[in-house]
Amino acid sequence: MVLRADPSRLLVSEIATAGARDAAALVKNLLRAGRDCACSRWGAGVGDMAGFLEALLTSLPPVQLSAGLAEAVKHGAIADAEYFAFLETDGAAILAKDGAALERVVQRSVEIKASLVAEDEREAGRRAILNVGHTIGHAIEATSKFEVLHGEAVAIGMVLEARLGEAMGVTKKGTAARIVQLLEQFRLPVERPDGATVDQLIEVMRGDKKVRGGEIRLAMPKEIGAMNGDKKGGWTVAVEEANLHTSITNPP
Ligand SMILES: [Zn+2]
Repeated sequence: MVLRADPSRLLVSEIATAGARDAAALVKNLLRAGRDCACSRWGAGVGDMAGFLEALLTSLPPVQLSAGLAEAVKHGAIADAEYFAFLETDGAAILAKDGAALERVVQRSVEIKASLVAEDEREAGRRAILNVGHTIGHAIEATSKFEVLHGEAVAIGMVLEARLGEAMGVTKKGTAARIVQLLEQFRLPVERPDGATVDQLIEVMRGDKKVRGGEIRLAMPKEIGAMNGDKKGGWTVAVEEANLHTSITNPP
């Protein structure tokens, strides 16, 4: 078993989480102090984090940069169709580590994550939509003995979940194809790896900490830039195992 360090995960996932926590704490403190400059101060905090991330991104080997970009694709898919379209049109510049393009990626990804985390309580757990691609992705990571990078597993997970959503009728037709095209542009895998059977993957998903009462629930895209769910019914969709099985087994 080979354990590969995955700086891309640190970059766009873990560090962005830290950035979001910092940003959320900063806003809270400022509000408590009764100041009215929360937005501009918060913006500055996010900007600093973005500069730090951008510097790290430019030093990454291509495979790690691609893995990190899986999370950027996710951010566009769940919350910002315009950002997703920018990733499509400027993908070549991003891969070439063009400064302005990378800066926009990091800035927007950190902003999206920070705002979802900051408004989580008011929006009844909306940050759950950040898990798109991750329930299947974690199962792929685990069954591959972590030889698949986190970002690569999330890329595959996003594709399979979008296909599942289309099969269930909760995701607009064509969404999965657009996600596939963008991920392939970023040289990311989009098909289930041979390392695990469908049954093994579902077995791991059943043991996922987000699965309660035997029901597998997934954050599911409605279309590019919007997710299924609301404050009342929650931000995940219950999936039938038969549907899940078919979508993972027979990609159309
Ligand atoms: Zn992730």
